[in-house]
Amino acid sequence: MSEVIVRFPPSPTGYLHIGGARTAIFNWLYARKHKGKFILRIEDTDVERSTQESIQGIIDGLTWLGIDWDEGPYFQSEFAEEHKKVANRLLDEGKAYKCFCTKEELETKRKQALKEKRDIKYDGTCRNLTPEEIAKKEAEGLPYVVRFKVPERQGKIGYDDKVLGRIEKDYSEIEDFVIVRSNGRPLYLLCNVVDDIRDRITHIIRGQDHMSNTIRQILLYEALGAKTPVFAHMPLTLDLQKRKISKRTHGEVVSVQWYRQMGFIPWALVNFLVLLGWNPGTDQEIFSKEELIQAFSLERINKSNSIFNYRKGDPKFFTDPKAININAHYLRTLPIEEIAEMIKEDFKEQGLWDDAYEGEKRQWFLDTLDLIRTRFHTLKDFATLGRAYFADDFEIVPKALKKNVLKRPELKELLPALGQELEAVEPWTLETTEAAVRRFAEDKDTKAGIIINGMRTVLTGQLKGPGIFDVMVAIGKKRVITRLKRTPELFEKV
Ligand code: GLU
Repeated sequence: MSEVIVRFPPSPTGYLHIGGARTAIFNWLYARKHKGKFILRIEDTDVERSTQESIQGIIDGLTWLGIDWDEGPYFQSEFAEEHKKVANRLLDEGKAYKCFCTKEELETKRKQALKEKRDIKYDGTCRNLTPEEIAKKEAEGLPYVVRFKVPERQGKIGYDDKVLGRIEKDYSEIEDFVIVRSNGRPLYLLCNVVDDIRDRITHIIRGQDHMSNTIRQILLYEALGAKTPVFAHMPLTLDLQKRKISKRTHGEVVSVQWYRQMGFIPWALVNFLVLLGWNPGTDQEIFSKEELIQAFSLERINKSNSIFNYRKGDPKFFTDPKAININAHYLRTLPIEEIAEMIKEDFKEQGLWDDAYEGEKRQWFLDTLDLIRTRFHTLKDFATLGRAYFADDFEIVPKALKKNVLKRPELKELLPALGQELEAVEPWTLETTEAAVRRFAEDKDTKAGIIINGMRTVLTGQLKGPGIFDVMVAIGKKRVITRLKRTPELFEKV
């Protein structure tokens, strides 16, 4: 099989958003599947809008996601001379021409055409200027753009899109499009093709929003004597109101950076984004990297647009619930050492880190993370919902306090008394703590459930959590007793 070379050529005019990331991921998967090459190319020719910050954001975002590239980053701006040369070559070969029509003239003609319900495409006024006429206009210093001369042919031009099938357009509908602006700068349409030819790109996998360029680009490949790559246009990502997701409409929730901040596991986001636009043809939703590379194919990219199911303003759903579920899956099943590594920075920031977690307290740390992760959805939950396991300054969820503690005034005395009893428990294990708590409940003629629920909230601040005896062992004897003895303070605060 021939070599596969694909590319991701973002314009660095904003952060890396999930739509762009998905495009990168699809290209990367295709390259990895075919043992080909994945090139990162920054299309920074729009100097006014390109920023260093955005370039860095793209590189950081891809790196964080684990999407590695084989070549680049290349910068389009470094090839400006080549783009100009190619434009001149097209002029020299008579495949393009200088157009001196002014904006005003074009606008008047456009309006006239609209009025007469005629085609509004460029009428070709400058297409057949004689060399003398051109020389004269240039001598007068008149500005011009360069237009591509669409071949005079009957019928249709088309291509076989790997996702959408045959796409065609009638030659008569294609106008002589501009390839160089009046300021001498070649347009995206041309630069992109020149770069793709130089990089020997075999497959162009990009969003359907670029389909309007494709036919014109195919004409450029042909004019430049280059082989046309295979095209695969992916569906767009829309929100529930069917709006294209964008920074302007949705803000940070569509940036890769946001997912990082919200405690996403990089691969979980990759997994989610792939399913947002591709399907394996089975019910499988969780894919390891190897499985995904194996299963991926352009043919199974969805034809219709994907819906990003995000409800603004619902804090529980800071993103698509499916994304959260996939993240929770990885959070609960990845080797606990990997999770420990992923939360380390956050623990440091939250004042929860202890170097002993990589030394003598390593086993305790891993066991505790493993115990509490079963109910968590994001990496952030360890430092927030799980704070009581690692520090004493944790908050008690008001609902839990009310339901599990304050509604049971008897706990004000019972829990400190239990704390007192527990002093004698030795060793401190699942069995001994359970026996002590059950004995205590019986002695006091109280339901064990009431004591246990109260303990859960007093010890962890939460309404729900792992089995209480596991919690007791994880938190440790000393801290359990101290917290139980402090129960009366909780009644005083309200
Ligand atoms: N710079 C273009 C973009 O960011 C690239 C389009 C393409 O893949 O050809 O949308």
